[in-house]
Amino acid sequence: MNRVLLVRYAEIHLKGLNRPFFERLLVDRIKKALEPIRPNVEREQGRVFIYDVPEDSLSVCVDRLCRVFGIHSVSVARCVEKDWNAIHAAALAETASYAASKEKLTFKCFARRADKRFPMTSDQLCRELGHEILETYPNLSVDVHHPELSVTVEIRQTHAFVYSGEVLGAGGMPVGSNGKAMLLISGGIDSPVAGYMIAKRGVQLDAVHFYSYPYTSERARDKVIELTKLVSRYAGMIHLYLVPFTDIQMTIYDKCPSTETTVLMRRLMMKIAERIAKDTGSQALITGESIGQVASQTIESLCVTDDAVSMPVFRPLIGFDKEEIVEKAQKIGTFETSILPYEDCCTVFVPKHPVTKPKVDKLRESEALVDFEPLICKAIEQTERMDVQSV
Ligand code: ATP
Ligand code: MG
Repeated sequence: MNRVLLVRYAEIHLKGLNRPFFERLLVDRIKKALEPIRPNVEREQGRVFIYDVPEDSLSVCVDRLCRVFGIHSVSVARCVEKDWNAIHAAALAETASYAASKEKLTFKCFARRADKRFPMTSDQLCRELGHEILETYPNLSVDVHHPELSVTVEIRQTHAFVYSGEVLGAGGMPVGSNGKAMLLISGGIDSPVAGYMIAKRGVQLDAVHFYSYPYTSERARDKVIELTKLVSRYAGMIHLYLVPFTDIQMTIYDKCPSTETTVLMRRLMMKIAERIAKDTGSQALITGESIGQVASQTIESLCVTDDAVSMPVFRPLIGFDKEEIVEKAQKIGTFETSILPYEDCCTVFVPKHPVTKPKVDKLRESEALVDFEPLICKAIEQTERMDVQSV
């Protein structure tokens, strides 16, 4: 019996006239995610069907599909002729392993007819299937309110599909449906989660990382590359820009007031990120900041940071507690890498008493103590680009 993956869309159904664009993009993303397996991906009446998946690749495919934004859920279905005998045989086969696994089990049948020409109504289908299942598996009983097992039949134009259960996908919208933004990625817990959340809204990601050799190590850099890879499992290909930041950082420490070094450093990071973003087609910056988490994330500090750039800055974690961010990081699989103990350039030379209520005018003055322009240009010139992708 042929197995087919049945994919339900997340928010795409809301998109009115743009819907074909979203659907095509989703199909492209699905094909990319399943590239090595090369199954046959087809769109039909508000669903995507994936045919020709080898039996032993089914679970890998489901796993990958659950990382494609735009997918609400996936079911592994049996695809049969639109014929009662074939349908009921499939429903019995679908139920068999569940029936064998438990002494007693409750179930319910669901039926949906996209093809109204099918001679049985949905109600009839449910009743007849329920009857067959009860006859075949005496340890099963019907519970219409809280069934342990749901057996669903969908009658579509070409075939009938029989399945039990569904695996929830990542939701959101297909990457590329909502422009492109530049993620400032550190080696910490927050920024990979921030990138994930914006990519989930359909935004394609680029990323920029600032490192300070020799104060930050090669391993810290590798960790950021690894984190970018982990985010790319969901977000697709990410161009990662690695910017040498030592000269700028040392100059700030030498020439600017010590209480302001962190905020100044953040302003310069934002400026460089914005320039690279503009040159490479990103429309916004993304950071992992949340209000009050550290001195450089008070409302005043965030205002001073924003003042350094004209692009919008997306901070999807702004209202999250650390605990909530950690939970999300664990769920998406970045946490274990994030907590590896390598220094980030933000954590070297942290001032003892950082300003927590910096003023924009004062910070602009301090920044003007140095002509940063040549240093910014040099850092951008020496920036290295890596194409990071993992499925
Ligand atoms: P994270 O866990 O993401 O490192 P954090 O709580 O440690 O965040 P900060 O170190 O103040 O916070 O950094 C705030 C944000 O600034 C980060 O979420 C990230 O977006 C950006 N950022 C910090 N350090 C770097 C860096 N070295 N390169 C690029 N972006 C950075
Ligand atoms: Mg950090």
